Amino acid sequence: MSPMRCSLALSLLFAGSTVYAAPNCVVKLTGNDMMQFDLKSVTVSASCPRITLELAHVGKLPVAAMGHNVVISATKDVADLANAALKAGAAGGYVPKPDPRVLAATPMVGGGSTSRGGFAGKSLAAGGDYTFFCSFPGHSALMKGVLVVTK
Ligand code: ZN
Repeated sequence: MSPMRCSLALSLLFAGSTVYAAPNCVVKLTGNDMMQFDLKSVTVSASCPRITLELAHVGKLPVAAMGHNVVISATKDVADLANAALKAGAAGGYVPKPDPRVLAATPMVGGGSTSRGGFAGKSLAAGGDYTFFCSFPGHSALMKGVLVVTK
């Protein structure tokens, strides 16, 4: 092993021994028939190759009455996207497509179903102002939370 490689190995070893929290690359939420997510804040890392989204609809109402999904966008875009979702309509899953402001969106599901999706962590900036919300008509006022992004 060359001296250079040796010192690299040592520094990696040192980094591994310091306080280190594994980056969170999974967002798990539940939604209910009361138009609520179970969490108001979720933390993920921009270093995740892929961030997985999972929303379990634990209610009983059908998707047409109480559909839920998870959409991620910059906080400043939430109101505009909620309006665009109305225009996309039920046929479009209440998600405007294609729209670069939608960083990620899972399919709309009804009670008893689980909705999954994912996106690359690099589409987020550490320290940025992001929100996760449900784009079903009228839901984003209650069904939203802060997506905290770490490095
Ligand atoms: Zn909803």
